Amino acid sequence: EVRVRFAPSPTGALHIGGVRTALYNYLLARQHNGTMILRVEDTDQNRFVPGAEEYIQKALAWVGIKIDEGVGVGGPHAPYRQSERKPMYMQYAKQLIDAGHAYYAFDTEQELEAMRERLKLAGVPSPQYNSITRAQMRNSTTLPEDEVKELLETKVPYVIRLKVPRKEEIRLNDMIRGWVMVHSSQIDDKVLMKSDGMPTYHLANVVDDYLMKISHVIRGEEWLPSAPLHVLLYKYLGWEDAMPQFAHLPLLLKPDGNGKLSKRDADQLGFPIFPLTWKDPESGEVATGYKESGYLPEALINFLAFLGWNPGTTQEIFSMEELIKTFSVERIGKAGTKFDIHKAQWFNQQYLRAKSDEVLAEYLLESLKDEGIDCSKEKAAKIAAVMKERATFPKDFWEQGKFFFHAPVTFDENVVNKKWNDDAVKVLSAYKDAVAAMPSIDAVAAKSTLEQVTATLGIGTGKILQALRVSITGAGAGPDLMMIMEIIGKDEVIRRIEYALQ
Ligand code: GLU
Repeated sequence: EVRVRFAPSPTGALHIGGVRTALYNYLLARQHNGTMILRVEDTDQNRFVPGAEEYIQKALAWVGIKIDEGVGVGGPHAPYRQSERKPMYMQYAKQLIDAGHAYYAFDTEQELEAMRERLKLAGVPSPQYNSITRAQMRNSTTLPEDEVKELLETKVPYVIRLKVPRKEEIRLNDMIRGWVMVHSSQIDDKVLMKSDGMPTYHLANVVDDYLMKISHVIRGEEWLPSAPLHVLLYKYLGWEDAMPQFAHLPLLLKPDGNGKLSKRDADQLGFPIFPLTWKDPESGEVATGYKESGYLPEALINFLAFLGWNPGTTQEIFSMEELIKTFSVERIGKAGTKFDIHKAQWFNQQYLRAKSDEVLAEYLLESLKDEGIDCSKEKAAKIAAVMKERATFPKDFWEQGKFFFHAPVTFDENVVNKKWNDDAVKVLSAYKDAVAAMPSIDAVAAKSTLEQVTATLGIGTGKILQALRVSITGAGAGPDLMMIMEIIGKDEVIRRIEYALQ
């Protein structure tokens, strides 16, 4: 049975990379009629941020990732918040101690610092607490048994550390990277239980994955260095047969490919890093989300799916259902993926375009309501139809279509300088009169009338078209001008040309 988990730590808003991790887990779960679990890893109480957990749930719901089991839903392995599971972890740490694979360590912060200093002076670049240093420190592998007992009884603060073997090759078969080999000398005697009685990420993560019967661990590449340690834990806890399969996802890189994508890059380049707008409870800083920037959840999902995975065909547009059918971990790349916001915009355009004029009209009507402008549904749908090839975001229908509601008061100077000449003035005045003589104006009639006028005056239509456009919209470019005139109507066309001619 496929059982996967998304296991965020509520240390702030969910980063867009976290949404991708959740998505890949979800796709695998759905494809195999498996179970998608949300587990909140909140054992580091110093980094707890209020509101983060609710944010994560809302963000997942918005993009359409449904949780089958876990925080907010419940399930057979409840509770799913690690802080509420606190009493469960100690027994496993004790089991490791009894088996000789973990030990109590009583070193104070100063002692640890002194050890690091000593090693640094001796030329060790990144000092470790390992089989060599362990022998010089205050722990249950070096202290006499009765002293250890006394320290424990007198409640001297301690941590429990994993006893990493000195010389051992640790192997793990990652679904994306293949065999990964790490020598145990590269691994610290990591803390498993902290002095406050809380487990660390490593112990809690492995214990919970085991107890929750997780079949696949799909997570970011930043966790790859921890994976060998987790393999050791499975082995020492006697759970080797139940060890999940690992898949470490490629990094999301800055747009220029130089290093890992960060919030700072996103801020600098002006694109969102969070799915929903997030107000940092400490700094009060507000970061606008994808949702509030006008991204459609299905477009964002499609974009994220392609950040690291591809179907091996030229098809790019995939609904969630299609992704569920097509996705495979085998087609996830090893190399980091450059984050290209233009691609996200492109997906948004495609999804926006695919909507009916009536749905798009609603976006426009919403903006118009904010502006206090009345507009019928029919007219809004017509505007949406004309504008949709140019819109990237729902707000664009208003932002780029203001001229439908407000006559221009300024005109694109570039166009005026180049195209506003005697011929243009002649054609525009004659055209205005011709329109006045028409009962009403539609796109076809607007065009044929214009052609008649230019033919009569012997001036090419192409030469004056931009002058007409700038009179009607104020801008040198935009959607189909004849349709614009049909939508604003005969009287408005006349008024605007008259004003431009003044
Ligand atoms: N709590 C970890 C995180 O915040 C989970 C890593 C994992 O999936 O094992 O990313």
